[in-house]
Amino acid sequence: MDLAEKLMLEIEARRADLVELTQELIRIPTLNPPGDNYREICDFLDRRLVRHGFQTELVRAEGAIGDSDKYPRWNLIARKEGAQPGECVHFNSHIDVVEVGRGWTTDPFGGEVKDGKVYGRGACDMKGGLAASIVAAEAFIAVCPDFKGAIEISGTADEESGGFGGVAYLAEKGYFSPDRVQHVIIPEPLNKDRICLGHRGVWWAEIETHGEIAHGSMPFLGDCAVRHMGAVMAEMETSLFPLLATKRTDMPVVPEGAKQSTLNINSIHGGENEQAEDYTGLPSPCVPDSCRMVIDRRFLIEEDIDEVQSEILNVLTTVQGRRENFRFDVRELQRVLPSMTEKSAPVVQSVARAISDVMGKEANYVVSPGTYDQKHIDRIGRLKNCIAYGPGILDLAHKPDEYVGIDDMVESAQVMGRSLLDLLR
Ligand SMILES: [Zn+2]
Repeated sequence: MDLAEKLMLEIEARRADLVELTQELIRIPTLNPPGDNYREICDFLDRRLVRHGFQTELVRAEGAIGDSDKYPRWNLIARKEGAQPGECVHFNSHIDVVEVGRGWTTDPFGGEVKDGKVYGRGACDMKGGLAASIVAAEAFIAVCPDFKGAIEISGTADEESGGFGGVAYLAEKGYFSPDRVQHVIIPEPLNKDRICLGHRGVWWAEIETHGEIAHGSMPFLGDCAVRHMGAVMAEMETSLFPLLATKRTDMPVVPEGAKQSTLNINSIHGGENEQAEDYTGLPSPCVPDSCRMVIDRRFLIEEDIDEVQSEILNVLTTVQGRRENFRFDVRELQRVLPSMTEKSAPVVQSVARAISDVMGKEANYVVSPGTYDQKHIDRIGRLKNCIAYGPGILDLAHKPDEYVGIDDMVESAQVMGRSLLDLLR
């Protein structure tokens, strides 16, 4: 029996351990926000990985957005050196999960196993992927103790809220520098036969139109900021949305609808603040002097961020040319550049070969419509050899009755194991 076959059997033999590990991770409710139990889950991972011969480090992202004494942002990084020098393969998983929401028929933090699936918040996004990478690495070390290079596993905070207290912080500290780590696999739930090469870019901004307050019975004495915003929205419908629909990317973005540039209006608010639910009075009659809109523009690798911004400014200056007293501000809230690893990159090639060896089919290449922690590894860490690959169905992420299939976890752990064999032997 060759080493690859031995490793596949070794991972299969650890099926029960993989299920149990996934359950244990789900049972630590790491809700974000606010960022509960990060220390608990890091301690749990620490104990497990130390038992398997890893050197570990607990890192708190002190001073990062979201970090406080009440909700410290803890991260765990574990490293296992091989018997000889070589390259390092890093598996990065986020430890946080999103709110539970309504509609569950199972306990979201129970880790129930039913019909070959493990249920719970975070089962697919992404505690199942974290567990698969741990079992893959442990099985690989057992079968191939004299491997070259090093394996790293990290559990990081806050991916769901931007990753600033997690991967971004670690990247700033050099944990993802190309001289320390050469290959990164992020086991996000992208389906077990798909390799995710990267993601589109994001530009979030707040547009504010200004007016002048006056009595609502005499609106001609003021200037209505909401009407100004209405004109902005009308101009977006006439010129901007049709323009965005013409911009198509060659990136293999899924689903199909995300192959074009998109803009979402996340929120709009003008005038008096909404009152608390227990307020029984009426609103007061005022002309709104401010209206704010938050936009979420997702852009393509073929687009330039300056162009994305100037399209919005064009809309506003066009409206300004037509309306008297039209005044506006634009504030950038967040920017993330698109990221896409080349198909020829070693980690892509290696995982593609592993998928075909384990599953007997060709890998599919995809790009994510939304961003994930690859942005920080690329921009801050300056590491281009990074992909997302892991078990679970993306559509189940953040939904009620989230689950991860046990066979999927085993197969994707086998893919991860074979990639280790390929890259570290
Ligand atoms: Zn995720």
